[in-house]
Amino acid sequence: MARKKTKKTGTNISARKSAGVRSAKMARSGSSGRGTDPARVRAILKGLDEAYPAPTCALKHENAFQLLIATILSAQCTDERVNQVTATLFPKYPNAKAFAYANPAELEQEIRPTGFFRNKTKSVMGASKKIVEEFHGEVPKTMEELLTLPGVARKTANVVLGTAFGIAAGIVVDTHVQRLSERLDLTKNTDPKKIEQDLMKVIPQDRWILFSHQLIWHGRRVCQARKPRCVECNLERLCYSRDKTN
Ligand code: SF4
Repeated sequence: MARKKTKKTGTNISARKSAGVRSAKMARSGSSGRGTDPARVRAILKGLDEAYPAPTCALKHENAFQLLIATILSAQCTDERVNQVTATLFPKYPNAKAFAYANPAELEQEIRPTGFFRNKTKSVMGASKKIVEEFHGEVPKTMEELLTLPGVARKTANVVLGTAFGIAAGIVVDTHVQRLSERLDLTKNTDPKKIEQDLMKVIPQDRWILFSHQLIWHGRRVCQARKPRCVECNLERLCYSRDKTN
Protein backbone atom coordinates (compact mmCIF):
# COMPACT_ATOMS: atom_id res chain seq x y z
CA MET A 1 0.00 0.00 0.00
CA ALA A 2 2.77 2.39 1.05
CA ARG A 3 4.78 1.40 -2.06
CA LYS A 4 1.74 2.04 -4.29
CA LYS A 5 1.27 5.56 -2.82
CA THR A 6 4.96 6.42 -3.33
CA LYS A 7 4.83 5.24 -6.95
CA LYS A 8 1.71 7.32 -7.66
CA THR A 9 3.28 10.43 -6.10
CA GLY A 10 6.43 9.84 -8.12
CA THR A 11 4.41 9.61 -11.31
CA ASN A 12 2.61 12.86 -10.50
CA ILE A 13 5.88 14.66 -9.80
CA SER A 14 7.33 13.36 -13.04
CA ALA A 15 4.19 14.41 -14.96
CA ARG A 16 4.26 17.85 -13.40
CA LYS A 17 7.96 18.18 -14.23
CA SER A 18 7.51 17.25 -17.88
CA ALA A 19 4.47 19.56 -18.15
CA GLY A 20 6.59 22.34 -16.72
CA VAL A 21 9.41 21.69 -19.17
CA ARG A 22 6.86 21.54 -22.00
CA SER A 23 5.28 24.84 -21.02
CA ALA A 24 8.69 26.50 -20.56
CA LYS A 25 9.72 25.30 -24.02
CA MET A 26 6.47 26.57 -25.51
CA ALA A 27 6.90 29.93 -23.79
CA ARG A 28 10.43 30.17 -25.15
CA SER A 29 9.29 29.29 -28.66
CA GLY A 30 6.58 31.94 -28.41
CA SER A 31 4.04 29.58 -29.90
CA SER A 32 2.01 28.96 -26.76
CA GLY A 33 -1.37 30.23 -25.70
CA ARG A 34 -4.26 31.73 -27.59
CA GLY A 35 -2.14 34.60 -28.91
CA THR A 36 -0.95 32.75 -31.99
CA ASP A 37 -4.19 30.97 -32.83
CA PRO A 38 -4.42 31.22 -36.68
CA ALA A 39 -7.92 32.75 -36.60
CA ARG A 40 -6.77 35.39 -34.13
CA VAL A 41 -3.66 36.17 -36.19
CA ARG A 42 -5.85 36.52 -39.31
CA ALA A 43 -8.12 38.92 -37.42
CA ILE A 44 -5.11 41.02 -36.33
CA LEU A 45 -3.83 41.17 -39.92
CA LYS A 46 -7.31 42.16 -41.14
CA GLY A 47 -7.47 44.94 -38.54
CA LEU A 48 -4.03 46.21 -39.55
CA ASP A 49 -5.04 46.18 -43.24
CA GLU A 50 -8.11 48.24 -42.44
CA ALA A 51 -6.16 50.79 -40.39
CA TYR A 52 -3.02 50.93 -42.56
CA PRO A 53 -3.81 49.82 -46.11
CA ALA A 54 -0.65 51.27 -47.66
CA PRO A 55 1.98 52.00 -45.03
CA THR A 56 5.38 53.26 -46.17
CA CYS A 57 8.82 53.56 -44.66
CA ALA A 58 9.15 56.92 -42.87
CA LEU A 59 12.88 57.23 -43.65
CA LYS A 60 13.30 59.39 -46.75
CA HIS A 61 15.44 57.77 -49.42
CA GLU A 62 15.78 57.53 -53.17
CA ASN A 63 17.61 54.22 -53.44
CA ALA A 64 18.74 51.17 -51.47
CA PHE A 65 22.04 52.73 -50.46
CA GLN A 66 20.39 55.84 -48.99
CA LEU A 67 17.93 53.62 -47.13
CA LEU A 68 20.81 51.60 -45.70
CA ILE A 69 22.58 54.73 -44.45
CA ALA A 70 19.35 56.23 -43.07
CA THR A 71 18.56 52.98 -41.24
CA ILE A 72 22.03 52.87 -39.66
CA LEU A 73 21.53 56.47 -38.51
CA SER A 74 18.07 55.71 -37.13
CA ALA A 75 19.36 53.58 -34.23
CA GLN A 76 18.24 55.24 -30.99
CA CYS A 77 16.97 58.23 -32.99
CA THR A 78 13.64 59.37 -34.43
CA ASP A 79 12.99 59.05 -38.16
CA GLU A 80 12.19 62.79 -38.27
CA ARG A 81 15.64 63.67 -36.95
CA VAL A 82 17.30 61.27 -39.39
CA ASN A 83 15.36 62.83 -42.29
CA GLN A 84 16.54 66.29 -41.23
CA VAL A 85 20.16 65.11 -41.23
CA THR A 86 20.00 63.13 -44.49
CA ALA A 87 18.36 66.08 -46.29
CA THR A 88 21.79 67.75 -46.38
CA LEU A 89 23.92 64.60 -46.08
CA PHE A 90 22.73 62.79 -49.22
CA PRO A 91 23.30 65.71 -51.63
CA LYS A 92 26.83 66.12 -50.23
CA TYR A 93 27.64 62.38 -50.33
CA PRO A 94 25.78 61.08 -53.39
CA ASN A 95 27.03 57.47 -53.36
CA ALA A 96 28.89 54.78 -51.44
CA LYS A 97 32.30 55.98 -52.69
CA ALA A 98 31.67 59.49 -51.34
CA PHE A 99 30.82 58.12 -47.87
CA ALA A 100 33.62 55.53 -47.93
CA TYR A 101 36.35 58.13 -48.36
CA ALA A 102 34.77 61.01 -46.45
CA ASN A 103 36.63 63.00 -43.83
CA PRO A 104 35.62 61.11 -40.64
CA ALA A 105 35.83 64.16 -38.36
CA GLU A 106 33.63 66.14 -40.72
CA LEU A 107 31.12 63.31 -41.12
CA GLU A 108 30.95 62.83 -37.36
CA GLN A 109 29.82 66.42 -36.92
CA GLU A 110 27.29 66.11 -39.72
CA ILE A 111 25.59 63.08 -38.23
CA ARG A 112 26.05 64.19 -34.62
CA PRO A 113 22.35 65.18 -34.21
CA THR A 114 21.35 61.50 -34.62
CA GLY A 115 23.34 60.46 -31.51
CA PHE A 116 26.08 57.82 -31.11
CA PHE A 117 27.80 59.70 -33.92
CA ARG A 118 31.27 58.19 -33.55
CA ASN A 119 30.03 54.62 -33.85
CA LYS A 120 27.59 55.56 -36.57
CA THR A 121 30.37 57.25 -38.55
CA LYS A 122 32.43 54.07 -38.32
CA SER A 123 29.46 51.98 -39.45
CA VAL A 124 28.49 54.30 -42.32
CA MET A 125 32.06 54.56 -43.63
CA GLY A 126 32.84 50.87 -43.03
CA ALA A 127 29.67 49.68 -44.78
CA SER A 128 30.23 52.09 -47.67
CA LYS A 129 33.84 50.99 -48.09
CA LYS A 130 32.86 47.34 -48.18
CA ILE A 131 30.10 48.06 -50.71
CA VAL A 132 32.62 49.88 -52.93
CA GLU A 133 35.42 47.36 -52.58
CA GLU A 134 33.53 44.05 -52.44
CA PHE A 135 30.12 44.65 -54.00
CA HIS A 136 30.99 46.91 -56.98
CA GLY A 137 29.32 49.90 -55.33
CA GLU A 138 25.91 48.19 -55.13
CA VAL A 139 24.03 47.27 -51.95
CA PRO A 140 23.94 43.44 -51.81
CA LYS A 141 20.55 41.74 -52.01
CA THR A 142 20.96 38.82 -49.64
CA MET A 143 20.70 38.64 -45.87
CA GLU A 144 24.06 36.82 -45.64
CA GLU A 145 25.92 39.50 -47.59
CA LEU A 146 24.21 42.41 -45.85
CA LEU A 147 25.16 41.00 -42.46
CA THR A 148 28.83 41.22 -43.44
CA LEU A 149 28.60 45.04 -43.62
CA PRO A 150 29.84 46.90 -40.53
CA GLY A 151 26.97 48.20 -38.39
CA VAL A 152 24.36 46.04 -40.14
CA ALA A 153 22.34 43.52 -38.12
CA ARG A 154 19.13 41.71 -39.04
CA LYS A 155 16.85 44.69 -38.42
CA THR A 156 18.72 46.95 -40.84
CA ALA A 157 19.14 44.13 -43.37
CA ASN A 158 15.41 43.37 -43.23
CA VAL A 159 14.53 47.06 -43.74
CA VAL A 160 16.75 47.25 -46.84
CA LEU A 161 15.71 43.89 -48.30
CA GLY A 162 11.99 44.46 -47.68
CA THR A 163 11.58 48.14 -48.49
CA ALA A 164 14.22 48.68 -51.18
CA PHE A 165 14.14 45.30 -52.92
CA GLY A 166 10.76 43.80 -51.97
CA ILE A 167 12.52 40.67 -50.63
CA ALA A 168 10.83 39.06 -47.61
CA ALA A 169 13.83 37.43 -45.92
CA GLY A 170 12.60 38.15 -42.41
CA ILE A 171 10.56 40.59 -40.34
CA VAL A 172 11.85 43.95 -39.13
CA VAL A 173 11.80 43.96 -35.33
CA ASP A 174 12.32 47.50 -34.11
CA THR A 175 11.14 48.94 -30.82
CA HIS A 176 7.52 49.28 -32.04
CA VAL A 177 7.32 45.77 -33.50
CA GLN A 178 8.85 44.38 -30.32
CA ARG A 179 6.40 46.20 -28.03
CA LEU A 180 3.31 45.44 -30.11
CA SER A 181 4.21 41.79 -30.65
CA GLU A 182 4.43 41.41 -26.89
CA ARG A 183 1.20 43.34 -26.23
CA LEU A 184 -0.67 41.39 -28.90
CA ASP A 185 0.65 38.14 -27.42
CA LEU A 186 2.34 37.04 -30.63
CA THR A 187 5.52 36.21 -28.71
CA LYS A 188 6.66 35.45 -25.20
CA ASN A 189 10.23 36.43 -25.99
CA THR A 190 11.97 39.75 -25.38
CA ASP A 191 15.06 39.25 -27.56
CA PRO A 192 14.48 40.78 -31.05
CA LYS A 193 16.08 37.81 -32.83
CA LYS A 194 13.77 35.36 -31.06
CA ILE A 195 10.77 37.63 -31.57
CA GLU A 196 11.50 37.68 -35.29
CA GLN A 197 11.65 33.86 -35.36
CA ASP A 198 8.32 33.67 -33.48
CA LEU A 199 6.66 36.12 -35.88
CA MET A 200 8.02 34.29 -38.93
CA LYS A 201 6.25 31.16 -37.67
CA VAL A 202 2.82 32.74 -37.36
CA ILE A 203 2.74 35.51 -40.00
CA PRO A 204 2.47 34.33 -43.64
CA GLN A 205 5.66 35.17 -45.56
CA ASP A 206 3.83 37.25 -48.16
CA ARG A 207 2.82 39.54 -45.27
CA TRP A 208 6.21 39.96 -43.60
CA ILE A 209 7.15 43.29 -45.23
CA LEU A 210 3.71 44.86 -44.89
CA PHE A 211 3.19 43.54 -41.36
CA SER A 212 6.26 45.28 -39.92
CA HIS A 213 5.36 48.58 -41.62
CA GLN A 214 1.83 48.30 -40.22
CA LEU A 215 2.97 47.52 -36.67
CA ILE A 216 5.44 50.43 -36.78
CA TRP A 217 2.68 52.83 -37.80
CA HIS A 218 0.30 51.42 -35.21
CA GLY A 219 3.00 51.79 -32.57
CA ARG A 220 3.61 55.41 -33.53
CA ARG A 221 0.01 56.49 -33.85
CA VAL A 222 -2.00 54.40 -31.41
CA CYS A 223 -0.21 51.74 -29.36
CA GLN A 224 2.36 54.11 -27.96
CA ALA A 225 4.91 52.97 -25.40
CA ARG A 226 3.92 55.00 -22.36
CA LYS A 227 0.18 55.36 -22.84
CA PRO A 228 -1.45 53.30 -25.55
CA ARG A 229 -4.60 54.92 -26.96
CA CYS A 230 -6.73 51.81 -26.64
CA VAL A 231 -10.06 53.61 -27.18
CA GLU A 232 -8.84 54.47 -30.69
CA CYS A 233 -7.44 51.00 -31.38
CA ASN A 234 -9.27 48.77 -33.87
CA LEU A 235 -7.48 45.74 -32.42
CA GLU A 236 -8.85 46.39 -28.94
CA ARG A 237 -11.26 43.44 -28.94
CA LEU A 238 -8.36 41.13 -29.82
CA CYS A 239 -5.97 42.53 -27.24
CA TYR A 240 -5.69 41.37 -23.64
CA SER A 241 -2.45 43.13 -22.78
CA ARG A 242 -1.90 44.27 -19.21
CA ASP A 243 -0.82 47.62 -20.68
CA LYS A 244 -4.33 48.35 -21.97
CA THR A 245 -5.81 51.69 -20.91
CA ASN A 246 -9.45 52.72 -20.57
S1 SF4 B 1 -5.74 47.68 -27.28
FE1 SF4 B 1 -4.22 49.13 -26.49
S2 SF4 B 1 -2.48 47.88 -25.85
FE2 SF4 B 1 -3.77 46.62 -27.18
S3 SF4 B 1 -2.89 46.88 -29.26
FE3 SF4 B 1 -4.50 48.39 -29.03
S4 SF4 B 1 -3.50 50.25 -28.30
FE4 SF4 B 1 -2.09 48.54 -27.98
